[in-house]
Amino acid sequence: MGIVPVPFRSFVLVSREQIARNYRNVRSVVGPGVDVLGVVKADAYGHGAIEVARVLVAEGARWLAVSSVDEGATLRAAGVVAPRILAMGGFLPFEEAALIEHDLTPAVHSLAQMRDLDRLAAAAGKPVRYHLKIDSGMGRLGTRASGAEIVAALAATPHAQLEGLMTHFASAADYSSTQTADQLAYFERIAAAIELAGHRGLRLHTSSTNAIAYGRANSGHNLVRAGHALYGYVSPARGEAPAQRLDVQPALTWKARLLAVKELPEGALVGYGGTFRTPRAMRIGVLGAGYADGIFHRLSNRGQVIAGGKLTPILGTISMDLTTIDLSHTSALGPGDEVTLLGQEGEARLDAQQIARVAGTISYNILCSISARVRRVYV
Ligand SMILES: *Cc1c(COP(=O)(O)O)cnc(C)c1O
Repeated sequence: MGIVPVPFRSFVLVSREQIARNYRNVRSVVGPGVDVLGVVKADAYGHGAIEVARVLVAEGARWLAVSSVDEGATLRAAGVVAPRILAMGGFLPFEEAALIEHDLTPAVHSLAQMRDLDRLAAAAGKPVRYHLKIDSGMGRLGTRASGAEIVAALAATPHAQLEGLMTHFASAADYSSTQTADQLAYFERIAAAIELAGHRGLRLHTSSTNAIAYGRANSGHNLVRAGHALYGYVSPARGEAPAQRLDVQPALTWKARLLAVKELPEGALVGYGGTFRTPRAMRIGVLGAGYADGIFHRLSNRGQVIAGGKLTPILGTISMDLTTIDLSHTSALGPGDEVTLLGQEGEARLDAQQIARVAGTISYNILCSISARVRRVYV
């Protein structure tokens, strides 16, 4: 085994430089008139929110976004000084104090919540800014109020400061549907009504990774919200999509170490339920990682890992802390050696999208499921 530079059974290596490169790539694609808000919710999609936030701020990011007040407070407590941290999931009454204390900027998604925030702002004695989220047709968070109703609510809430208007696309990578065009038209109608009422200089933002990647119309908009792209991913498009514009690469490699390597005779059963029977004598490896680390149980007898530079199957049922793999192709690996669950070894490559297809889910889900017990190491 020699020296073990990373003394953990299962660990993730995150390349700070790759995240910085991805961020710079998004910036260059959207151009100088548009700011890029770095989405670091859900512990930066498993990459570690504090570290990723620091990388982005060092790259000049002025905008970050999280999901909840709690996530934003964690960043502020760690000393992240981005001028704005947008809490995209808004706030609940019990989060009001933390929202103000940690200088977070909520996405407000109802007229009632505008009034709540106005009351808070009147009491806070410091500027409380917010972005109003419009439900332009996704049917999730956001107000469905008309332009006139929003303008009236703005007039009744003079203490809270409207800084931006946002909406979120449900199908930005799907060119077989008109949903994105419909959503954009709806959003622009509302934004025009609000601007016409004298609310000028607002931040307008609609686009996240897929809308940026496929160049969905965002002219006139001055902010985009990039998450998945920072971590090196763009969803494949459906329908007649234009060429993808981003040049981003995964920043995360996930490894697990072998606990044991053993020879099994033909006909041996492997793992819970005996769902795999060796069709011949086989060499198997037992990895020190299982579904508690975030390896999807659905990958039992389906998924692959990279061992000794080659893709090789997962054998049998994935256990909580252990996963068995086929090592018949190599005698080079032994206890303590690393196997790649997600990443690249030479020509062999396994990214979150490939894993997601086999697991019946999406790449976001794969990244976010790498559990807290998997140590993050920054390189
Ligand atoms: C998560 C999220 C994003 C980022 O989306 P990506 O596809 O990861 O770029 C943007 N906006 C909202 C509202 C989100 O919830």
